[in-house]
Amino acid sequence: EKMILNGEIRNRSEIKVEIEDRGYQFGDGVYEVIRIYNGKLFTSEMHLARLIESAKKINITIPYTIEEIEVKLKELIAENAITFGTVYMQFTRGVSPRNHAFPSTDVAPVYVAYTKEVPYSGVLKPGAKAITVEDIRWLRCDIKSLNLLGNILAKQKAAEAGCFEAIQHRCGTVTEGSSSNVSIVVNGELKTHPATNLILNGITRQVMIKICKDLGISYKEDDFTLEELLAAEEVIMTSTTAEITPITEIDGQAIGNGESGTVTRQLQQAFHAEIERQCGH
Ligand code: PLP
Repeated sequence: EKMILNGEIRNRSEIKVEIEDRGYQFGDGVYEVIRIYNGKLFTSEMHLARLIESAKKINITIPYTIEEIEVKLKELIAENAITFGTVYMQFTRGVSPRNHAFPSTDVAPVYVAYTKEVPYSGVLKPGAKAITVEDIRWLRCDIKSLNLLGNILAKQKAAEAGCFEAIQHRCGTVTEGSSSNVSIVVNGELKTHPATNLILNGITRQVMIKICKDLGISYKEDDFTLEELLAAEEVIMTSTTAEITPITEIDGQAIGNGESGTVTRQLQQAFHAEIERQCGH
């Protein structure tokens, strides 16, 4: 199996983590996950633009252009012969003796990328269960940071409750899932948290909004409460790995009639068409 280390394709077995890599010691870095369909990257320009933005927000300068990164990722996908899967990539601030303050500017970021096979489960994903939890994370959730403790603790609570996702809220206002964005449908209109510092502006969320525009589904980027969440006609989670998934039960309570709704299905079908458009044969 091949990986990318600092822009070069290498054997996975040759790659070691340095104990003083700031990603390892502090979670000091940023990451992305990009989906591969039919051996092709999906929405990679958006992911790579966000990666560079996230890095910039914490003063990491990525020493490659989007095009350079993309060319190497395509090479990696071909080398590993991935048809359906994901590529995970991260940049840390680099290796330097442990000290909270940044190292000197001659310390280069460490870049790693590797692929994983993920089956494509088809268009109409079935409903999933969720719980609600308090959002205990920091106030820069717009940065796709390696620091994921708040997200991990939330997801673990969901797992222990036999649920797929934990929907987080700050004082009763829903922010996002532990690894997804969350939207609701009320009176046929889609509502999703605005892209502020309190959520990650998901690429899937952005594609979903574009689909709403294209299909004339009315939508609003506005936050909503836990009460609105539980009373919604439909609840939708979006992420690179979950794509567009209906949430049909929250805290043991059915959403709508407990089945995937019509807006969700419309979005799923259009999302599938977008995958075909970008990554079809
Ligand atoms: N919010 C959080 C906290 C996430 O970790 C993720 C993705 O993993 C998302 C939202 C969805 O983002 P995207 O659609 O770009 O995968």
